[in-house]
Amino acid sequence: MGKDKGYYIGFDLGGTKMLASVVDTDFKVVAKAKRKTKPESGADAGMDRMEEVIEEALKTAKIDRKDLLGIGFGLPGVLDLTGGRIVRLPNVGWTDVPIKARFEEKFNVPVVIDNDVNTGTYGEYRCGAGKGHRDIIGIFPGTGIGGGIIINGKRHHGITDGAGEIGHIVCDPSGPQCGCGLRGCYEAYAGRVAISGRAAEAVFRGKAPAMAKIAGTDLSKIKSKALAQSIAEGDTVIEEIVREAAYKIGLLASILIATLSPSMVILGGGLAEENRDIYMEECQRAMDTQCVPELGRAVTLAMAELGDYAVSIGGAAIAADAQ
Ligand SMILES: [Zn+2]
Repeated sequence: MGKDKGYYIGFDLGGTKMLASVVDTDFKVVAKAKRKTKPESGADAGMDRMEEVIEEALKTAKIDRKDLLGIGFGLPGVLDLTGGRIVRLPNVGWTDVPIKARFEEKFNVPVVIDNDVNTGTYGEYRCGAGKGHRDIIGIFPGTGIGGGIIINGKRHHGITDGAGEIGHIVCDPSGPQCGCGLRGCYEAYAGRVAISGRAAEAVFRGKAPAMAKIAGTDLSKIKSKALAQSIAEGDTVIEEIVREAAYKIGLLASILIATLSPSMVILGGGLAEENRDIYMEECQRAMDTQCVPELGRAVTLAMAELGDYAVSIGGAAIAADAQ
C-alpha cells in the first residue's frame, strides 16, 4: 500500500471553499492552495476551478509533475464510489458528474473519491487523533452532523456508498423539522442552524448581551466562533444551549457505540472544535451514563487533531492506499 517517494494531492471540496494540499508519502502537507467554491457557477466551471487550484498547489510545492502519484477527493454528498461519479452534492448543487474520469485524464494519475466526513475521519485514523485505533467513529457537528465510520481499519460505506448519515437518525418523529425533510433528526436539535436559532431567540429576549453585540439575531452570523466568544464573555444562556446540543451529540455517540463498539470516538467540525471543552465534557457525560457500560468503558473520546487539513490529508491517504 502506497509508494516510498512522491506526492499526492488531497482535495477537500466544501460548499463555500475548496482546498488542495500537496502531501508527501509521510502525509506531511508540503503546499496548499485554496479558492472559493462558487456553487452558482455550475459543475463544469467548478471543476475548472478545481483543476486550477490543484495546478496552483503543485506550482507552490515546486515538484516535478512525474512525482505526482495520485489524487484523493473528499466530497460533500452522495457518490458512486466504484463508478467514480458524483451523484449529487446538495450544498454545491452538482449532479451526475464523472469526476474520476475527468481528473484522471487531466493529470494522468489514479483518482479516488470518498465522502468528505469519511475522508476526514480516515485522515484522523492514519495521521491524527485516531492513530493506533482500528475501530473509529468520527462525529463532525457543524452546519450538518456528519459521521465517518472505520471498522477494522477500513472505511465503511454500506450498499449505497452512503453510510454515516448519522445526523439524520430520528430521535423524535414529532420533533422539529430537519433540512432533510424528516422530523426530529439529531441535526434538527444539535446542528448549527438549530443552535443558532435558539441563540437568536435568547438575544431577542434580552438574555444574551454579549451575543447581541457580536452577531445580534442574525442566524447567518451566529456561527461556531461567535458562540464560543459569547460564552467566553459571560452569556450563560448561550452556554446552556451549546451544552444541551453537545450532550445530544454524546447521546448520538452512545447509539453508535452500542451498534458498532468502537475503541475511539473522534469529535471534529466547527461547533466542536470552537467549543472543545464543552463538547468533550458533555459528550463524555452522556457516554458515561447512556452507554452499555462495558462498551462505553472501552471507548476513548478524542478531539480531531488535523483541523482544516483532516479531509485533504485523508484524501491523500486514500489515494496512497489505492496505489
Ligand atoms: Zn434530518
